[in-house]
This record gives sequence, C-alpha cells and structure tokens, in this order.
Amino acid sequence: MESIEELMLKYQRIGTRDRAKWLETIDQKIPPSFKERIKNDDKSVLRELILPDWVTWDLLRSWSLEGTEGELCALCENNSANFVLYKNTVICNKCLTELKTLEIKDAKPMNPQDYT
Ligand SMILES: [Zn+2]
Repeated sequence: MESIEELMLKYQRIGTRDRAKWLETIDQKIPPSFKERIKNDDKSVLRELILPDWVTWDLLRSWSLEGTEGELCALCENNSANFVLYKNTVICNKCLTELKTLEIKDAKPMNPQDYT
C-alpha cells in the first residue's frame, strides 16, 4: 500500500497536480469523525462523503492509519503505521526493505579473485 506522501509525489510527477493538491489538504476535506470511522473500516462513510472518483478505499485507509498507531522510525524519522521491531529498534517497512537489500548485497559470495 502506498503512503499518502508517496501518492502525492507520484501525482506531482505525472502531472496530476489537482490530485496532489487534494491529498495535500485531505485533513481539511475529511472531518476527524469520518477519519475515525475509516480507521475502523466502516465503508458507509463512502456514501456520506463526496470524494473524487480516483480516491480509493485503500487510499483512505492508509491515510486514516498514518501517524496514528504509528511509531517514529529510527532511521528515516518518519512516523509510520507500518513498522517493525528490528533488533529492538523501531523501523518502518520502507527502511526494512532497504536494510534487507543491503544485507543481501553484503551476503553475496566474494569474488574468487578476492581470496587470492
Ligand atoms: Zn524509516
């Protein structure tokens, strides 16, 4: 699931600035009481809110969960709801993926030439 921030950057990149703008102000567009219901997976809010047609339930869920149950990532210092405890340190999934990539690189067998 993409974070709101990632989506915002994506929309800016592909030139759909109205979407980026909408996401930027999502906190003003959807009242906190609705946010709470979205967090609780209450899809009836979709009937009560007037939303652009590109706004998906996943997007709303990801927004409602962002920064609420989240923890501050020790590496990138972003607040993320998708975090894990890694060696007793809170890190977000994004950093975890990066860490794993690094570890795989490190774990690569050495070049035979390095042994000589
Ligand atoms: Zn992080």
